[in-house]
Amino acid sequence: MPLTLQQKLLAITRNLWWTWRPEIRSIFRDIDIDLYHRLYQNPLAFAREIDPAHLEHRAQEMDVPARIDRALRQLREHLTATTTWGMTHAGALGSRPVAYFCMEFGIHESLPIYSGGLGILAGDHIKGASNLGVPMVGVGLLYHQGYTNQVLDGSFWQQDVVEPYDLRNLPLELARDKHGNPVRVGVELPGRTVYARVLEAFVGRVRLLLLDPRDDANSPEDRELAARLYGGDSRVRIQQELLLGVGGYRALRALGITPGVLHLNEGHCAFAVLEWARHRVQHDNLDPRFALQIAGSATVFTTHTPVEAGHDRFEAGLAEEHLHPLAEGLRMPVQDVLAMGRVRPEDSGAPFLPTVLALRHARFTNGVSALHGKISKQMWQGLWPGKSLHEVPIGHITNGVHASTWMAQEVNQLFRTHIGVKWLDSIARPDLWGKVEDIDDAEVWEVKQVLKARTMRFISGRSAKMRERLGLPAIEGLDPEALTIGFGRRFVPYKRPDLVFHDLDRLDAILNNPERPLNLVFAGRAHPADSTGKELIRRVLQFCQDPRFRDRVAFIENYNIHVGRQLYQGVDAWLNNPRRPLEACGTSGMKVVLNGGLHISILDGWWAEAFDGENGFAIGNGEVHADQATQDARDAEALYRLLEEEVLPLYYDRNDTGIPHGWVRRVKRSIRTLAWRFNADRMLMDYATNCYLPASMSSSCQMS
Ligand SMILES: *Cc1c(COP(=O)(O)O)cnc(C)c1O
Repeated sequence: MPLTLQQKLLAITRNLWWTWRPEIRSIFRDIDIDLYHRLYQNPLAFAREIDPAHLEHRAQEMDVPARIDRALRQLREHLTATTTWGMTHAGALGSRPVAYFCMEFGIHESLPIYSGGLGILAGDHIKGASNLGVPMVGVGLLYHQGYTNQVLDGSFWQQDVVEPYDLRNLPLELARDKHGNPVRVGVELPGRTVYARVLEAFVGRVRLLLLDPRDDANSPEDRELAARLYGGDSRVRIQQELLLGVGGYRALRALGITPGVLHLNEGHCAFAVLEWARHRVQHDNLDPRFALQIAGSATVFTTHTPVEAGHDRFEAGLAEEHLHPLAEGLRMPVQDVLAMGRVRPEDSGAPFLPTVLALRHARFTNGVSALHGKISKQMWQGLWPGKSLHEVPIGHITNGVHASTWMAQEVNQLFRTHIGVKWLDSIARPDLWGKVEDIDDAEVWEVKQVLKARTMRFISGRSAKMRERLGLPAIEGLDPEALTIGFGRRFVPYKRPDLVFHDLDRLDAILNNPERPLNLVFAGRAHPADSTGKELIRRVLQFCQDPRFRDRVAFIENYNIHVGRQLYQGVDAWLNNPRRPLEACGTSGMKVVLNGGLHISILDGWWAEAFDGENGFAIGNGEVHADQATQDARDAEALYRLLEEEVLPLYYDRNDTGIPHGWVRRVKRSIRTLAWRFNADRMLMDYATNCYLPASMSSSCQMS
């Protein structure tokens, strides 16, 4: 029996591949846009709810059946391809995949198990592995209440709202062992064992395993252990981390997966390396130190922030209480295990840092940009007494973004026409991108105007709704023709979301210059427990109400993947003004670049290695002053001058047909010099070549 249209839709939505295929999302929109929006753009829910008769009827009016067939065929081709980059270049990984552990994964807005940059990077990482065919399994936790949503109240204070989401409408299945039985793992926590079932999602060619402790054998509290991402105190946190690291490794084994490489994405999952060693001690009777050495030699660790508070530190008593079972399994005194996570092992009683545990064991450790690699060496030099800075074994691999997740369909089309229909398969080849220079300025500008119009409608719709809810007077809103600069990121002091408000009169003059007006659009959330961040949000919102600014500055609530995508695609430029060197990499600007926007940034994170003088704009020259207030004042001054003297004049310098050739030239240069480097394929190639392959060699020599 041939499949019905509905069955085909269901088959397509079962793999999260559709999340980066805009042409598939448009099939759903074309079938029934109202239903699609009512179901929060969730294709699986849509495929289940759609009335088959209605579907058949609508399908006759458009070329829907052919489009569905094509999508299904392409998905099958993707899953069965035998000639991938991974097979040619990472074939040695063979049947021992990279186990990629992370506390959060940002794949799509419908699966809210991410909070921000770290999770979105993890999502882009496994999508990149899928693109290239690098053998990989993702391992994370399933937070059944997800992360909180940002809703602002009448005093502009961020409320953190838990909005339960319907797991049944996500393509998650119970992971089964080779006998077809659902896999269940247990993790010893103080006084009891906590059990978790394992759900799996398919992200293209990559399996993503998600542990869920809602098991009848657990106490009611333990069933809620992973209710929310970053939702508890440090006791909940260490227990979540044990569930992830220890339980995650056990889940792999139970599924018959023997990882060849362990990639710890941030310190939260570092316990996995102890569990791997424990397994070897128990099953192969290895000496514990030797087992740790072997597990470590196949481990890659990526550290993500130079901000001290960004690294978990567990108080000694808490850590001891929780690490007993692992120590026992390792046949080591618990004090020895604790010492592995202390900055100075001899300081008994000092806190335990999972980052330190990972740094001590991983064969390869990397920061996420060249500058961050350098800063991380300084930060952790003390772990290697007697080693000079350049001997500290921390390198770097600069982050990249998954192009098809973040790019507008129109830009993809533009590149298909001018670079080649298969450009996405060769995105990391620098030679390909020279062709961008040949695209007619008018065509680049036209495409950007289409994207911008859509984004400006989104901004004005969202702002109007929020103003109405808060009882604020209606306003005219942003001028859709004016230069529009976006700023979207977590609100924390070092990112300085309020820097541009340093001098209000100066800002007023810039924004409201009748010859060359400027719009600013802000978005961003604070961690639910961070009142300093919430204070910053309130501050920015108060500035937005100033009569001088309210038609020029907008704030969009609830920054997430959906909101982000809307902003990245349509804004003319993106503002990034952290206190150097605290932004380890930053990736939002890369997403803007892919959509023909320009990056305006402090020379920090990726921008310190990416800016060439003409492919965007630099705020200041990278100098850092010891006094923070002085630094902020200098950077604000540099930002104002840059806007006044370079950015605005370039944007408004038009020819008789209204095209700003100088601006478009810079856009083309930005795409030509940045797109091939700062994407997920290049990032994965770097990890595979420089870390995964050498790490897997050592593991395969010694693997049981
Ligand atoms: C890309 C992205 C981030 C991370 O961007 P940074 O520049 O590192 O702050 C955070 N949140 C969302 C929604 C994103 O899309």
